[in-house]
Amino acid sequence: MDFEHLPHPAPVPGETRAQAIADPGFGTVFTDHMVTVDYTAGEGWHSARIGPREPLSIDPACAVLHYAQEIFEGLKAYRHPDGSFALFRPEENAARMNRSADRLAMPHMPEELFVAACRELVLKDADWFPTVDGGSLYLRPFMFASEAFLGVRPARQYKFLVIASPAGNYFKSGVPAVSIWVSRDYVRAAPGGTGAAKTGGNYAASLVPQAEAIEKGHDQVVFLDAVERKWIEELGGMNLFFVFDDGSVVTPPLGGTILPGITRDSLIRLLRDEGLTIREERYSIDQWRADAQSGKLIETMACGTAAVVTPVGRVEGPEGEFTIGSGGPGQLTGKLRERLVAIQRGQAPDPHGWVMKL
Ligand SMILES: *Cc1c(COP(=O)(O)O)cnc(C)c1O
Repeated sequence: MDFEHLPHPAPVPGETRAQAIADPGFGTVFTDHMVTVDYTAGEGWHSARIGPREPLSIDPACAVLHYAQEIFEGLKAYRHPDGSFALFRPEENAARMNRSADRLAMPHMPEELFVAACRELVLKDADWFPTVDGGSLYLRPFMFASEAFLGVRPARQYKFLVIASPAGNYFKSGVPAVSIWVSRDYVRAAPGGTGAAKTGGNYAASLVPQAEAIEKGHDQVVFLDAVERKWIEELGGMNLFFVFDDGSVVTPPLGGTILPGITRDSLIRLLRDEGLTIREERYSIDQWRADAQSGKLIETMACGTAAVVTPVGRVEGPEGEFTIGSGGPGQLTGKLRERLVAIQRGQAPDPHGWVMKL
């Protein structure tokens, strides 16, 4: 499918843009353009275009506003030392969006179309790459039900868009360890629910427990399983890894209630490359505390596209607070982070073929 290029009447002036990308932070600065592709039942995907980023005009009865039929993805484009642009495992994002689509009764999008949309936008807005060290262009592909109707059934019209946001180095001076609150009253996902789908509703449901974590003096909330309220699942938007003193690593198994992170999958491979034992198995909150206190557990890391790999330093659970290792960034956490970032940025060989040059 070819993308129609719509002219931009008034792109942001160079000087304003230079200021915006010098220190963009995360998620507040946006580029000039966006990609849009429409879907109509019977016709499929059509009218692929790239044009000015502008407000959408939607009917007040638009299905997404009422029943939340919406899914999204998140990936970064990187500038390599030779000046070229690259995406990290974008076909994985495309495949995951289609799995999310299955759960939300939405149409599949061909993987090539998803990747082509990301490519078009990165090349069009290449001037928006942040100038700060460690910067990247964060891409947010998303799809929503755009049909105007109030009956409850899967919509017959959808829109797929990609917008881009220059992102600074998530952590400016080193990687601080985060402190975590174990939610007692709320769960993120239940068996049979939408926990494995990247859909806005999961995030909406996480806002109250996240606010509770902040109120209690922590950075993030960790969710336990909905059935026994015992097994550690993940943070609101990051997967977890536990590192033991014998060199082995555990991460909670996928199984419908955990979002299958692409960073999670990449770290599992990098750990295997290191010759370490990585087990995908359930790990309980009580065991976590006991192992941290006995010294058997030496590191815990959280991972996701936005912040890559982040150490967890302190935890407040139902039985009180405990510290992980020294409370600061652990050794393996730092090493994995460096290895992954170097591959993404084209500063190290890419043995698994993860990097797609644009
Ligand atoms: C997106 C997301 C992650 C991380 O996935 P990555 O592909 O590594 O960015 C983890 N948990 C949740 C709930 C998410 O939405």
